Amino acid sequence: MEMKIIATLGADLHIHTVYSPDSLIQPKTLIDMLAAHSFIKVAAVTDHDSTRGCKATVELASAYPDVLIIPGVEISTVHGDMLVLGTDELPPKPWTPEAVVDYAKSIDAVTIVAHPFRTYGMGEQAKNYKVDAIEVLNGGSSKQANAQAKEFAKTLGLPGTAGTDAHQVSELFSVYTQIDAALSVDSVLAAIKKGAVSAQVPRGSVLF
Ligand SMILES: [Zn+2]
Repeated sequence: MEMKIIATLGADLHIHTVYSPDSLIQPKTLIDMLAAHSFIKVAAVTDHDSTRGCKATVELASAYPDVLIIPGVEISTVHGDMLVLGTDELPPKPWTPEAVVDYAKSIDAVTIVAHPFRTYGMGEQAKNYKVDAIEVLNGGSSKQANAQAKEFAKTLGLPGTAGTDAHQVSELFSVYTQIDAALSVDSVLAAIKKGAVSAQVPRGSVLF
């Protein structure tokens, strides 16, 4: 039997690679940054409406036993952006929030409302969807939009995650999610669902 040791992991749960048309981050650079980081060893690759980046990054990461890439995607639903973690396949269209949530549940993936109170965010109507978590700390959102998201998650009783939404290397790891889980995709996804997560700003971060 494989031993699964629960530890406190640091994870950046929202990253774009060059497979997003607006990002400059190469998968190899992301892996090297994780390998060199003292405590952020987990990253979710969530390109816009594409899973090519996460597939490429997962493949490269297989050579690094202490680095974990969560495959995922940021879906541009008709009512705003939604992260799906734990899949390297796209949900079937049309991309309504309900259909994306249903698809994610059918494959035990996790849905997170990305930056709800920013452009392309779902805003308050996210409460109508059976999502697993709310992104309460986004590296590209204002302090106020993040505070509003944190309050929103609290009101809904949903876990709050953090991700940088990095599109450039300099934006990586400015915020992170602390997760109590073993270093495996299944364990991390289960921990997010049960709320064993907290949104954090690293000591000395220039943001927030
Ligand atoms: Zn994003």
